[in-house]
Amino acid sequence: EQQVEAERKRLGVVVHGEDVPKPVGSFVQASLPEHVLGTLRAAGYDAPTPIQRQAWPIAMSGRDVVGLAETGSGKTLAYLLPALVHASAQPPLKEGEGPLCLVLAPTRELACQIESEAARFGAPCGVRTAAVYGGVPKAEQVALLRKAPELLVATPGRLNELLSKKKTELTRCALLALDEARRRYSREAAEIQPRLGFEPQISAILGHMRHDRQSLLFSATWPAEVQTKVLSFLSDQGRPFLFLSL
Ligand code: ADP
Ligand code: MG
Repeated sequence: EQQVEAERKRLGVVVHGEDVPKPVGSFVQASLPEHVLGTLRAAGYDAPTPIQRQAWPIAMSGRDVVGLAETGSGKTLAYLLPALVHASAQPPLKEGEGPLCLVLAPTRELACQIESEAARFGAPCGVRTAAVYGGVPKAEQVALLRKAPELLVATPGRLNELLSKKKTELTRCALLALDEARRRYSREAAEIQPRLGFEPQISAILGHMRHDRQSLLFSATWPAEVQTKVLSFLSDQGRPFLFLSL
């Protein structure tokens, strides 16, 4: 206990929540599938980053996480590996079935980056991945969805379009990850393209999902004016969740 406290202090980690599981010290301790460990070794990664060490045991115990950590701290794998563990524990989906895990990202570039990371770790475990985002024709994405990816990465606007056209559904989707949902846009960018509609878009998507889903929210920024809204995206306000910042 004291050791964990001392380490959190050393890393500057602030943890909120009840009965928060201890951080893992290594990849092996994190009970990751053998194929995931193989990919981590092949990538030359030595050890989990602080946010991964803290977030994995919580996420893998089924609890919600709000993880705040600076850019470059390894947030993507902090939610992707628990998502892959969840997906690989389920029987493979049949053609046309909706995903088991959903990752929402604010931009097409980010969605593509996340999907390629998800495919790198997911493919060896037999987890199919796909990304859908705006600015490109829908037909190709509709074809990808028909192949029933277990893990889907999406921008909210395009996913809502596809949901309303019944090209996918989220009834089996029990894990939501929100990446950089609170990204702060420069004033200039905000003037050119007011970011109206992002939160309603997310709320609409949540309306398609199971109420008992698990939510993993990761961001580099945490502006005061959006905290209440973002926390309302957590699945169950009554369930203990972790909030950590690094
Ligand atoms: P963030 O989302 O917090 O900005 P990323 O998830 O994009 O950070 O990770 C930044 C880089 O660090 C990526 O190239 C990623 O592959 C790499 N990375 C992630 N986890 C580890 C790790 N445990 N050890 C070494 N590199 C890692
Ligand atoms: Mg990131």
